[in-house]
Amino acid sequence: MNEKTKIKSIGVLCSGGDSPGMNCAIRAVVRTGVGLGLNIYGIRRGFQGILEGDIVKMDASSVGNIIQHGGTILKTSRCLDFYDPATRKEAFNILKRKKIDALVVIGGDGSFNGAYRLHEEHGIPIAGIPGTIDNDITGTDYTVGFDTAVQTAVEAVDKIRDTASSHARTFIVEVMGRQSSAIALHVGVCTGAENIILPSKDRQDLNIEQISADINRGIARGKNSSIIIAAEGETPGLCHRVQKELMSEYNLQAHICILGHIQRGGNPSSLDRFLASRMGYIAIDSLVSGLKCFATCFIQGEVNPTPLEGCLEKRVEYRPYYEELAKKLSI
Ligand code: ADP
Repeated sequence: MNEKTKIKSIGVLCSGGDSPGMNCAIRAVVRTGVGLGLNIYGIRRGFQGILEGDIVKMDASSVGNIIQHGGTILKTSRCLDFYDPATRKEAFNILKRKKIDALVVIGGDGSFNGAYRLHEEHGIPIAGIPGTIDNDITGTDYTVGFDTAVQTAVEAVDKIRDTASSHARTFIVEVMGRQSSAIALHVGVCTGAENIILPSKDRQDLNIEQISADINRGIARGKNSSIIIAAEGETPGLCHRVQKELMSEYNLQAHICILGHIQRGGNPSSLDRFLASRMGYIAIDSLVSGLKCFATCFIQGEVNPTPLEGCLEKRVEYRPYYEELAKKLSI
């Protein structure tokens, strides 16, 4: 038991979309906690697992041989009931009955919002570990899973480029990220994409004329393939519209490849493992030191606890100048 905070038992859960590296974070939380003599409880399937009492005591060996695996051994879920304050009260009472003094929540901004409300309403200490492939949480430069998702997409686009250049084709490759531009921008720069379509450009200001001009300029200087990276955006179908308009207005044929959920899976990259390990350690260390409501944020190369309040918004605008960079380097 820690004399200063009286924290004896900590619960850990994953919530929202899974991301590669969540297992590394769980491992770091469990091993750090066990090393300090704390009881660590794994809560299965996010906030839903609290309500169903799906809670298991973990020890050092519960997290053996998971560091290299994607997904999450604790499973995850979206729990719509948790938006209701009465459900959160019920969850708090269950945690109290189980004598769980604090919670580590691994997830995105939605999960952080749920956890923040639980803390505000009932005082339970919360540590948030940013885990999402979208890299769209305010307050942290990187989230666990983003680097792996980008690498997966980059490898896929490299393969597409092989066939695109063999057949002198244009491909529109849709990457994940909903409103977030982060994956699209990184993948665009890393694959030498000729164009990147961001979610903000979803309908009105999409400049198909410019895209066709870029493709034609490439053809004129001897390029035999073009890659357009499209962020998925909130409403699907954008790449089909681009494909249709390129053909009907500019007589340019483009093929579509939607990468989809392969970007969520796979063995976490070394950066994600490193981040998750540091964040898991700092989550427990900071809870034990008495911090009450924070996220483990990666800012300018360092992981530090930061007030959770500053991490509740979705980061929509993501370094738009990367689009310019991709364009300048793909002339
Ligand atoms: P992510 O954490 O990946 O952003 P979601 O936005 O789907 O994923 O949120 C995951 C879960 O967090 C939700 O299913 C819900 O249980 C909880 N949650 C999200 N937003 C809130 C909120 N405003 N109030 C209470 N709980 C929330």
